[in-house]
Amino acid sequence: MNQVKEKEEILLTDRAWVEINLNNLTHNINEIKKVIPKSTKIMAVVKANAYGHGMTIISKKLEEIGINDFAVATLKEAIDLRKSGIRGNILILGYTDINDLKYVIKYDLIQTIVDYEYAISISKLNLDSKLKAHIKINTGMNRLGESYKNIDNIKSIFKINNIDIKGMYTHLCVSDSEYLDDINFTNNQINNFYSLVNRLKQDKFNLGKIHIQASYGILNYPELNLDYVRPGIIMYGVYSNNSKTKIKLNLKPVLSLKARVTSIKEIEANESVSYGRIFKANKSTKVAHVSIGYADGIPRELSDGIVRINNKFTKIIGKICMDGLMIDVSNIDVKVGDIVTLIGNDIKALDISKNLNTITNELLSRLGNRLALKVVNY
Ligand SMILES: *Cc1c(COP(=O)(O)O)cnc(C)c1O
Repeated sequence: MNQVKEKEEILLTDRAWVEINLNNLTHNINEIKKVIPKSTKIMAVVKANAYGHGMTIISKKLEEIGINDFAVATLKEAIDLRKSGIRGNILILGYTDINDLKYVIKYDLIQTIVDYEYAISISKLNLDSKLKAHIKINTGMNRLGESYKNIDNIKSIFKINNIDIKGMYTHLCVSDSEYLDDINFTNNQINNFYSLVNRLKQDKFNLGKIHIQASYGILNYPELNLDYVRPGIIMYGVYSNNSKTKIKLNLKPVLSLKARVTSIKEIEANESVSYGRIFKANKSTKVAHVSIGYADGIPRELSDGIVRINNKFTKIIGKICMDGLMIDVSNIDVKVGDIVTLIGNDIKALDISKNLNTITNELLSRLGNRLALKVVNY
């Protein structure tokens, strides 16, 4: 996303943009702090351009309000974050190619050790200084991480000369579920991780920072008392889905998504709109073209979705195009340049993603880099 420009310039020229409410970000952080132990710190997950919110602007605000720990998915994100001036710890949650680990050191980042084999390849490298790392433990997600069962392997990772272990973590895979089976599974993940931690502690390993919970770990397993929690989606003020949670926070969405009317036309009954002629008017209809499309991150499946313009709700009609979409403005007083809200106010990211059978995490993180970014404070 473009960095913040002069407000006036954005108002005059931008075709489509996200509006970021930083007061709501602060509010959500305070909500999270209310339910985690005093000694637990927030590691803010700002991967994927802070879930479409703009990594730089979000991270700078977080640093300003006292957050000192960040997590991203990739080395590129981590370097961008460091170059943007963030001084805190930056953990790369994903895999970094062995040949690129020199940059992890150069930019003072922290790498996740994704498994034993990865650690062994690192041990053979000639690095300028020790690689700071957190060991990822697999307790059932089966994505990344060395299995909690392989205690000997994990111990040998701690002994590798050119790796400086700063922490160890695992990730829960059904922590959002209310079903007993899933709760049992999650408790097993947690217990297996804890037994590993205890065994290593008994053997005098210096484990560094220990962490487990992402957003739904915080909401459903609030009794855990670890060094970090790793919230992503709830920091941005939305739930992933409609599942019931043990803890309910009073979250406020940080992001709104807006675009402009660029052209208005009248069509007759039986005329169609957009590709495939899926929408056919059954009466004469006033149609407005809006300058945002699927290349900006509006899912094409949202054809039929609700938008808001001039304080009225109306529908997207016809297939969404790459750069634009059409809405029915038959009964609405509309002119070129008017602002259309696609997410925000009464149009919730959660409702949209539910209708599309996905989660808000996906909807928001896919918002494209063609969108401008505007910071509002209200
Ligand atoms: C993305 C991610 C998070 C944040 O997840 P949310 O569900 O958005 O809170 C935390 N930890 C890891 C390892 C992740 O990949």
